[in-house]
Amino acid sequence: MTIQDLVPATPIAWPEGKKAAASFSFDIDAESAILFASPGSEHRFGVMSHQAYGPLTGVPRLLNILERQRVRSTFFIPGYTALRYPDVVRDIKAAGHEIAHHGFMHEALEGVSVEDEIRYMDRGLDALEKVAGVRPVGYRAPMWEPSYATMEILLDRGFLYDSNMMDADHPYELAVAGNRSIVELPIQWALDDWEQYCYLPDISGVGLIESPTKAIEMWNLEFEALRDEGGLFVLTNHPFLSGRPSRAKALEGFIERVVSDSSVWVTAMEDIATHVRSLNLTPRALPAPVVEAEYRK
Ligand SMILES: [Zn+2]
Repeated sequence: MTIQDLVPATPIAWPEGKKAAASFSFDIDAESAILFASPGSEHRFGVMSHQAYGPLTGVPRLLNILERQRVRSTFFIPGYTALRYPDVVRDIKAAGHEIAHHGFMHEALEGVSVEDEIRYMDRGLDALEKVAGVRPVGYRAPMWEPSYATMEILLDRGFLYDSNMMDADHPYELAVAGNRSIVELPIQWALDDWEQYCYLPDISGVGLIESPTKAIEMWNLEFEALRDEGGLFVLTNHPFLSGRPSRAKALEGFIERVVSDSSVWVTAMEDIATHVRSLNLTPRALPAPVVEAEYRK
């Protein structure tokens, strides 16, 4: 297998009649992200209720929107969320959406040993299997922070795609040790609702709460430009944030606009990954930078 190091990802061929693709993805972090990042927060009743809004109120509203717009989406679900809200996960599956892996307790992987990372991965797999009988093919690391071991761990477990990298506008095959590769569906921070809407005292940092009008304007500008580049537009929303009424309403208007563009293929991420795999692209490698000791002086 030929591998190319540090070359740009180039435009790919989309299915007949399409010149770009878009996927609306949802991360159901619920309590898990806060429980991991801020130990002891399980004793904060108000904060926990803020996170519970996602699965309890946001997801049903978003599922109705997706049904109305006839869009198949991808839901990245931490194992802990699945165990706490099994009926919500089953409803998502019953509606025909893809269920993908998002850690167990939304564990950040920076500085974590490979053994621990494997444990989080398998714990997440077990939870999705137990609750919904699902064996996911897609993975998104909590905080989009994979390690240099993540892709091998994913391939060893039969995953088809990863969605964490920020180096490209187009999907690609990411080279993995052992002459293997995994489909990469790239994302970026500007296409995430967390930075627009998340305010939690002591937890969210600055935590501005922006207007949905501003968020949608920003996402739409990027959508139109990425479409013109023939790229892949992946929007990431959290039901505890974008499930709120005015935000969900604005999101539906945006989804409607994207769906009405017949040049864009709108579908779940596994469908896009399956298409990318069929193209037999030459894998691209993104080797870790080597920082020689003398450069530290
Ligand atoms: Zn998350």
